[in-house]
Amino acid sequence: GFERVADKVTTVKTTNGNFACDQLLIAAGPQTGSLSRLLGREVPVTSARAEMIVTEPVPLMPIGGVDGNGLFGRQTLRGNLVYGGGPHEWLPEGSIDAERPSSPLSRSIAKRLVEMFPKAQHIRVIRSWGGIIENTPDGRPVIDHLPGASNVVVATMSSVGFGLSPASGHAICEMLLEGKCQFANLSDFQLSRFDNLSPGWREEWGWVPPQTLGAVGRAL
Ligand SMILES: Cc1cc2nc3c(=O)[nH]c(=O)nc-3n(C[C@H](O)[C@H](O)[C@H](O)COP(=O)(O)OP(=O)(O)OC[C@H]3O[C@@H](n4cnc5c(N)ncnc54)[C@H](O)[C@@H]3O)c2cc1C
Repeated sequence: GFERVADKVTTVKTTNGNFACDQLLIAAGPQTGSLSRLLGREVPVTSARAEMIVTEPVPLMPIGGVDGNGLFGRQTLRGNLVYGGGPHEWLPEGSIDAERPSSPLSRSIAKRLVEMFPKAQHIRVIRSWGGIIENTPDGRPVIDHLPGASNVVVATMSSVGFGLSPASGHAICEMLLEGKCQFANLSDFQLSRFDNLSPGWREEWGWVPPQTLGAVGRAL
């Protein structure tokens, strides 16, 4: 939780004790929504499980990376095909235990990989992994001062946080230390673009967890 004095957060309360703060960044991935809600303004994010598969190595192809058939990935220099992609499996808010790959998602990725590369039909999947990713309604980042809390910045990259991390880290640092980003216009990433979002947007868009594993399979 948080302690406030007027419009500033002064203390972050954790299970490891309380921490005083001059500035606060909430960058908790899929948990960014629930933490910002404690301060009166929720960053809309929905959690989903994303998975990747790795095949045994095959001879190098002329094209290293491909984005298509709902997948993205590349071939390693050793020859493995490393691919992932949607559809994701939507998770209940607060999920932290979805790291184990689920076979329906992995199978769907493998099937679509073979559709793209028919000659890969005989090769075996040797590894897969999964994790929880954060998704904003429009798939774009939120990097903004939290309305109503003058010393709080919220940041989420909406599932492309690796790629964006060098630039976004620099921008977030400047927002905290200088009050605004000095090197780029971040107005497209403001939270206010979601001001008219319906409270039931997750249900309306179908961004809700499947009730059973069978339903996941059917969705794929
Ligand atoms: C399988 C898979 C493949 C991916 N591939 C790509 C890719 O190719 N390119 C790309 O750009 N991105 C990719 N991503 C997405 C990328 O991992 C995320 O966008 C990125 O990790 C988000 O970084 P973050 O620091 O905002 O949040 P996170 O990495 O989620 O970090 C949030 C941190 O906050 C902590 N936290 C949460 N709640 C609390 C709390 N209450 N108190 C204290 N700490 C808390 C968590 O423990 C965690 O350490 C992939 C993700 C997955 C799962």
